[in-house]
Amino acid sequence: MNQAAAKFTPYNSKTIQRAPQWERIPEELREGVTVVSQVLPFRTNQYVLDELIDWENIPDDPIFRLNFPHRTMLDDRDYVAMRDVVATGDKRQIALYAGKLREQMNPHPAGQQTHNVPELDGEEVQGIQHKYAETVLFFPKAGQTCHAYCTFCFRWPQFVGDDELAFAAKDAQGLTAYLARHREVTDVLITGGDPLIMRTNTLARYIEPLLAPEFEHIQNIRIGTKSVAYWPQRFVTDQDADELLRLFERVIAAGKHLAIMGHYNHPAEIRPDIAQTALKRIIATGANVRLQSPVLKHINDDPAAWRELWTTGVRLGAIPYYMFVERDTGARAYFELPLVRAYEVFREAYKSVSGLARTVRGPSMSAFPGKVLIDGTPTIRGEKVFALQFLQGRDPDWTRRPFYAKYDPHATWFDQLTPAFGDQEFFFENALPLPARPARELAVIS
Ligand SMILES: *Cc1c(COP(=O)(O)O)cnc(C)c1O
Ligand code: SF4
Repeated sequence: MNQAAAKFTPYNSKTIQRAPQWERIPEELREGVTVVSQVLPFRTNQYVLDELIDWENIPDDPIFRLNFPHRTMLDDRDYVAMRDVVATGDKRQIALYAGKLREQMNPHPAGQQTHNVPELDGEEVQGIQHKYAETVLFFPKAGQTCHAYCTFCFRWPQFVGDDELAFAAKDAQGLTAYLARHREVTDVLITGGDPLIMRTNTLARYIEPLLAPEFEHIQNIRIGTKSVAYWPQRFVTDQDADELLRLFERVIAAGKHLAIMGHYNHPAEIRPDIAQTALKRIIATGANVRLQSPVLKHINDDPAAWRELWTTGVRLGAIPYYMFVERDTGARAYFELPLVRAYEVFREAYKSVSGLARTVRGPSMSAFPGKVLIDGTPTIRGEKVFALQFLQGRDPDWTRRPFYAKYDPHATWFDQLTPAFGDQEFFFENALPLPARPARELAVIS
């Protein structure tokens, strides 16, 4: 490769002042970064700063918004109070107050540990979740951070040292023991954080056991990653980039499908040459790259952004997969869009691309009962409604059964919707495994 090996330089709230671009950030925005990054985790890197952010366009540049904390992510009273605590320089007070604000931000949204963490011989299997029959999620311990942090991240508690990390698996043993007994599982989705933060030899220790003949039922291995966008060097110039691609080839040689679930939030992430080279190198191994992202205010609430992302992706050989609705956690008020708007963005983008890009589905909410697709806002028997359906349900039989909620132009999440036509409940409600509304759930959205 003739692209010179770049050194991965991460920045956090303490070191960002050393970044060459720090001086380009106006004083009032810097204050926002300093104050809010006490509460919400912040991390970026030199590639993002140099290649993805348009510094002529801050603060509105979408990648700037995607990486840098902004004042209005906290409500105004909290911001001012936090700023005052930061000004005292008292570390203990800062940590205490930041912790208090985090608690208010629904750190563990809709779902839970006990509903999705499976058991084997009466014991919980660490680092795996199994919600939909055919797919097991796997959280390797060494993959629970990212090359940079998205400000919308719904996994943010794990980056501030919260106990969600307890989820992660040190090795593949629990996973393989579980899969050996669960022949119904066809897909393993390795996720994080970002599993591709790991060196190749570490990642291989998790993946290679799955290539053994006894796991013939595992047809598809997916790796969820943001590295394609934030650190494409991972596939091009990193010391073990080639080794990583050889690992991908071994997965394919073992007869499996390998899907790299690429978390692209904005077309700026797919424009740089090195990002396109990364994509082509991955695809050359026989793996697929699929594109997915939530739709977010300030970042990609624009059909043109999606059109460019999908069409560029398709041209390079990737497959548009999901558009999600941002979930109910963290700086939610900053990013959320009315469901109606999310639907409009989806439809406007979808109708402007060829069928090859219409493999995408959305907008979809990863809610407690399942992945709920918003399929439009028709008027039926004189009542304006949301047409909905499950793409995935806790009960597979719910899949693709149309159902309807009262139209609400302000609703931003599934839990704000109520049944249409005067019904008392949605068709699936008395079937939910209640009581115990879950404390948390790590659905796939990022
Ligand atoms: C989205 C998701 C999956 C994968 O669903 P697909 O529709 O197969 O992509 C699996 N488990 C959980 C918990 C999810 O949120
Ligand atoms: S949204 Fe995904 S890629 Fe971004 S910080 Fe969170 S886990 Fe990492």
